[in-house]
Amino acid sequence: MVCETVDRIGSLVVQAAELQRPCVEGICPECKDPCCSRVHYLYTEKDILYLRLSGRRQTWRREGFMKKGCWFLGSKGCSLELHSRPFICHSYVCPDLESAIRESGPEVMSQLRELFRLIGMLRGQMWSEYLVESRNGKRQPIQL
Ligand code: SF4
Ligand code: SF4
Repeated sequence: MVCETVDRIGSLVVQAAELQRPCVEGICPECKDPCCSRVHYLYTEKDILYLRLSGRRQTWRREGFMKKGCWFLGSKGCSLELHSRPFICHSYVCPDLESAIRESGPEVMSQLRELFRLIGMLRGQMWSEYLVESRNGKRQPIQL
């Protein structure tokens, strides 16, 4: 069922964030050219579907984005809670962050890549299960 897949994605996202947290906290605050200030709107339809299916609300519209850099970048970093961020924000690892992660332990980067692979696979599964459940009338279609 799609709700079980959404829960599995949620727990893997937490694992991926925890795994990279010490390195992110170590290097990102000192970054001279933060990735979040070089991007704009990053949400895909799967991100929006995950938000909706996990009970989170999308409170913005793409058309309203005028600010330079990501709309959610605040003075203390990302202002969104973990599960409301687009998947690319969890899986983007710049070369500096990757170096720090590799230095932190020999297996950490491969564990992280495996988590990203699993989350990507489950996001595809979430989409298929949602379509089947909508077609069967088990779920109301969601406006993406
Ligand atoms: S992930 Fe890389 S580019 Fe982004 S803020 Fe951290 S160090 Fe900078
Ligand atoms: S949503 Fe958060 S983590 Fe993602 S680009 Fe924007 S500020 Fe950065």
